[in-house]
Amino acid sequence: MSNKADKITAIKGMNDLLPADAHLWEIFENTAQSVVQSYGFQQIRTPIVEETRLFSRAIGAVTDIVEKEMYSFEDAMNGDKLTLRPEGTAGVVRAVLEHNLVYEGPKRLWYKGPMFRHERPQRGRYRQFHQFGAEAVGFTGPDVDAEMIAMCRRLWDDLGLENIRLEINSIGDAEERARHRVDLIAYLEQHEEHLDADAKRRLHSNPLRILDTKNPALQGIVNSAPKLLDYLGAESLAHFEGVKKILDANAIQYTVNTRLVRGIDYYNRTVFEWVTDELGAQGTVCAGGRYDPLIEMFGGKPTPAVGFAMGIERLIELMKGVGDTAAPRQCDVYLVHQGEAAQMQAFILGERLRDAGLDVILHCAASTGAGSFKSQMKKADGTGATFAVIIGEDEVANNTAVVKAMRAEGEGQQQSVAFEGVVDYVVDQITCGDDCDHDHHHHH
Ligand code: ATP
Ligand code: MG
Repeated sequence: MSNKADKITAIKGMNDLLPADAHLWEIFENTAQSVVQSYGFQQIRTPIVEETRLFSRAIGAVTDIVEKEMYSFEDAMNGDKLTLRPEGTAGVVRAVLEHNLVYEGPKRLWYKGPMFRHERPQRGRYRQFHQFGAEAVGFTGPDVDAEMIAMCRRLWDDLGLENIRLEINSIGDAEERARHRVDLIAYLEQHEEHLDADAKRRLHSNPLRILDTKNPALQGIVNSAPKLLDYLGAESLAHFEGVKKILDANAIQYTVNTRLVRGIDYYNRTVFEWVTDELGAQGTVCAGGRYDPLIEMFGGKPTPAVGFAMGIERLIELMKGVGDTAAPRQCDVYLVHQGEAAQMQAFILGERLRDAGLDVILHCAASTGAGSFKSQMKKADGTGATFAVIIGEDEVANNTAVVKAMRAEGEGQQQSVAFEGVVDYVVDQITCGDDCDHDHHHHH
């Protein structure tokens, strides 16, 4: 065996999140969380592993996910059939029922976390990926459908993402889809010799899914196929009109894409996708819709619901194309010191500065070498610190420290400060009033 074979690497299609990108994930997650909270949504966390039959029942046997994408295995201890969750809705609905959460009335819930699908890894498509999602359980709509969409728009605005467009459609109810399905199959059979292998396979199992094929050769056929919208009854149409009316009144632009369906069985009525042209083939950054039948399918009493899931990796990719994506400074203060007594003073000072709410990095002489003042100052600069606080033998002897401004106002200036006064001095400098152009979020 070669050395190379001994090297353990991450699983194909499963990515490490490295510090260089971590701030973008934090910005995304914090912004998304505050947006959904501004609509009254509460967090729910469910396990990553669930019984396999939760997903095969909820998602549907003839979907991409259940047919070929699930990470399923037997628990080696007891033979239980388990699956790494491929999406979030099934687990949330299970938890809602298990804990009778809708007992007191409808619930607005959000979640985030890793999902797992055995797909061919490529740009925007991974085997472990992350979703941020929301589910409104117990709401008939169409107001809540529109609210879901408005939340997404608010998030794109808050993140500064401009080129994401909205497509909506209604896929009606099961009866309406059944009538459409008969005509759709008949139509597709007329064109069977021109269908690709995927479409042929789906012709009798999941023909609706053929409508959102990405194969350019099939566009002519699917464009002229019977449109589900033409099969909707009065109630489904009224619901769809209701959603559109609210979107119009709130200047939320959309196009009705009559071929928009969802790859999962539990959806009905409103479906929507947010799509961008900036990510190549994997352009859908958020997909959602109504799933009124799902909870009853799980033995709950009929409870209408609507939700969406965003692909966080794809949105991070978009965020990289917007404005300033540089990592923020790592700390407010970098502690520079020389000599054993000085190091002890620096450690004590670091604790006090953190007590005052500052982010502080202590130069670790034991690990990275004592280093000259000059080389330590270079390290301080590399962290983006606003101040370096310097303690040498003289400072220990005088019970002082030198505070040096590293950034913006007063850059390069340094001041000897009594050791007991350093914290107040630095805090004063950092919260220096309205003319201060530092960005110290946690001090406001
Ligand atoms: P696609 O048609 O691209 O396979 P999907 O219908 O399987 O999408 P959903 O199950 O609706 O996707 O998931 C919602 C969102 O999660 C997608 O719009 C996408 O942003 C993201 N997503 C889905 N699968 C992956 C994946 N394998 N890697 C990264 N993101 C994904
Ligand atoms: Mg998929």
